[in-house]
Amino acid sequence: MGIFESFVLGLRPVAGKTIGFQQNEGGSSSLLWSELELAESFQRLLSPVLLAEPWPTVPRVDCQQCRRVEEGLATWEVRCCDVVPVLPNFLVGEILHHHEHPVVLGWLQSRRSDPFAIWVPPNEAMEHKDARVDGRYGKGCPLLVEGGGLCSVYAQRPALCVNYHCYYPSMLWKEAWSCLGTLLELLQDAAAHFLVSLSDLDLGRLAQLWESEPPTLWEDGWQIEVLYEGCWQHWVGREAMFFRWCYEKLLSFGPKELQDVRDWHRQRCMDRLAVAGQEGTDHYRTLDEEFSHRHELQVVACEPPRELRKRLQSKVLGADEHLYSIHQMESYALWYREQLKKDENPSWWMFWRPARQEVAEKEGIAVTERVKEK
Ligand code: SF4
Ligand code: SF4
Repeated sequence: MGIFESFVLGLRPVAGKTIGFQQNEGGSSSLLWSELELAESFQRLLSPVLLAEPWPTVPRVDCQQCRRVEEGLATWEVRCCDVVPVLPNFLVGEILHHHEHPVVLGWLQSRRSDPFAIWVPPNEAMEHKDARVDGRYGKGCPLLVEGGGLCSVYAQRPALCVNYHCYYPSMLWKEAWSCLGTLLELLQDAAAHFLVSLSDLDLGRLAQLWESEPPTLWEDGWQIEVLYEGCWQHWVGREAMFFRWCYEKLLSFGPKELQDVRDWHRQRCMDRLAVAGQEGTDHYRTLDEEFSHRHELQVVACEPPRELRKRLQSKVLGADEHLYSIHQMESYALWYREQLKKDENPSWWMFWRPARQEVAEKEGIAVTERVKEK
């Protein structure tokens, strides 16, 4: 058996085709609900309230019969995986815990990581961008199994990949998945930073290094040596061991540490507001209030503010693109999950390509609107 064949392979669950699906009782027959396949680390980080019930699977997105391939917008070997994702420290550890992944180990040997994550050199990111012509997916993610169009780290894929779908039945679905993606991005960012803060790295040196950022971080796809060694310190040459430690440490987290991750992130939001001179705002006071009640905080469904809903309609927000706390995002995600349960007869939205009109007509899907992105 080849090394890749022993990996956990997978694609998004397909309504009605994946064993272990639950029919959503009382819902439309077209809506099926599955356990979202998430890395163990994410499951540890998410509030149990969100994990208590399955997250709704996007109906009609069947990665085994990829629409984009059928529409001639992607090859079977690449499908929609034409980016290289950033892998946070604990996920690298989780991947390496399951298998000695040659691509990931190769990345560790080519100076593209720091204690927070494995990054993507700008020239490589550009190559992938350039390979996308006229909306067609081009150069495949190096983590794809060659020739198979499958992800070799599916069970440990990062937030970006968990969230992505090429179609949504309605804007509500798009918002809901963007909300979940935004929450996972937040958890990913906060946990990676929090884990570094627990390590034996000289954090002062690390901070100093980042503050006095050299004019260029990368040279020919490698991080410049002085930066790399300053970041890794006595862990240089033992990066894989550090990442494994991050994963094991995260799995050992109890309620206190999970609370600490949330506190770490909330404090960062408050610091950012303070730097922007917005200490007196309602949002700052809400975050401050959360601090005083953090041990009693319950995740209860709460409708996101209009401003956030609008932003989620267009994309997943990165950790630095908003100032909502993890607790707030979890409450919003819970609200979306409840709304999706009620959305029994979604009409389809079209994304990106006019060619979809043809496919929609063939399948008898009602097209309500076409949204152009990317
Ligand atoms: S484009 Fe991606 S998400 Fe959409 S069907 Fe193909 S593999 Fe699945
Ligand atoms: S990590 Fe996996 S799911 Fe994500 S882009 Fe690469 S192959 Fe696709």
